[in-house]
Amino acid sequence: MKSENTQIIRTAVLCVALALVSNGYAQEQFSLEGQPGALFDGESDVPTTGVLNGIKYVVINGHAIAQGDIVLGKVFADGRITSTTRGLGQSQLVDRWPDGVVPYQFDESITAVSKQRSIEAIQHWKDRTGIQFVERSDDNAAQYEDYVNFEPSAGCASWVGRIGQQQAVWVSDNCTTGSIIHEIGHAIGLFHEHTRPDRDDFITVNWDNIVEGKSFNFDVLNAGIVQLGPYDYGSIMHYGDFFFSGNNQKTIVVPDNVRIGQRDALSEGDAESVNQMYQTDLALTTNVSTTENGVEVDIDVTNLGTMGANNLQIITTLGDAADWISISTNSGWECQAFGIELRCTRDTLAEQTQNKFTVLVNPNGAEPSELSARLVSNTRDTDNSNNTVNYDGELAAPVPQPEPTEELNENSTTGESSESKAPEVGEGKGDPASPAGGSSGGGAALWIAAFVWLARRQRNKA
Ligand SMILES: [Zn+2]
Repeated sequence: MKSENTQIIRTAVLCVALALVSNGYAQEQFSLEGQPGALFDGESDVPTTGVLNGIKYVVINGHAIAQGDIVLGKVFADGRITSTTRGLGQSQLVDRWPDGVVPYQFDESITAVSKQRSIEAIQHWKDRTGIQFVERSDDNAAQYEDYVNFEPSAGCASWVGRIGQQQAVWVSDNCTTGSIIHEIGHAIGLFHEHTRPDRDDFITVNWDNIVEGKSFNFDVLNAGIVQLGPYDYGSIMHYGDFFFSGNNQKTIVVPDNVRIGQRDALSEGDAESVNQMYQTDLALTTNVSTTENGVEVDIDVTNLGTMGANNLQIITTLGDAADWISISTNSGWECQAFGIELRCTRDTLAEQTQNKFTVLVNPNGAEPSELSARLVSNTRDTDNSNNTVNYDGELAAPVPQPEPTEELNENSTTGESSESKAPEVGEGKGDPASPAGGSSGGGAALWIAAFVWLARRQRNKA
């Protein structure tokens, strides 16, 4: 019997999560440009401008800032920069967040207003993309070495992509929720939309209107970027018409009736871009078989992609009366029965990894071909065709058991580790033949029912 390597499937009640809807704001981004003293106190004798990997920047209190709010690194007196953006538009996988999970925390000095808006901005990302955000705490700090720290500042700014260890998203009380959504976009790996290599097909930059010395903010980025989807005027990562204008004339001209520079919400293109950047390729295969323990469903989930997946769920049914009994332990999956459905969840599955587990089920007369299994994840699965359900064709003959009924009864009353051994009947369903002894006895009855069912099939086949 599977006493040590199974755990009991319990029935759970559906929870309904309330989704927060963040309010839209239409204010212009409050960037760090023109905000001396915006960041930490830094060295004073540093170059005021520079170029890093082809990206021009200005130095604001010791930090190299590109395009108003992109932090490239800390600048020392000799011009050396401690950290660099590693790829524009995040062509490098290492710059992205593993499994699409962004750990974050709030600096203790952050204001209540900034914190509340940051929470709304995070929720906005969670609602619209497959990116998962996990608040870092003392309990999980060791698990999340790389994380975003929301810090107070005179303006809004962020690094682009995952830098390693603690990295700031700087926010002031002048940063709207929409501006913070924009900054989180940088942290996840997005650059400004107007710096795409194909932008000249869609916008016209009026260089003469740009305030002197700031034209580098409109340079096209060519190195290390990945261009995702069609050009998106509506991107929350797009500059507005008058950004860095020195004469109150437009610095960016777009076709009539086209709006740019919104800081209300992620556009569909923004969400699509990020979901592409963090997409993965999960493959699900299942197998129904009969073993000495009963009817087993083997479930194999392999991540064939180059990025990890998060918030995975497998929904399995077998006919319309199956009783899900137990699952192999240490699989990393947690399973619960919801009526006839078995729902198994898992937080993450790293890229290029395989994961298997086995579920014991009483099919209550269902044929193996009735098995249905569906795999979903927060992160996009690029290929659904490899999520297949396989059968043995027919359930194999059970291994002959000496009087299984008595043996099971005996085992269920020996008292050894009955919690892990005795299957439990899901609540809310008919409790077949459960004796007065409670769930443990009911579970034993299920085991018996499974074997009776198998024996009947054997007879029918003979
Ligand atoms: Zn920005």
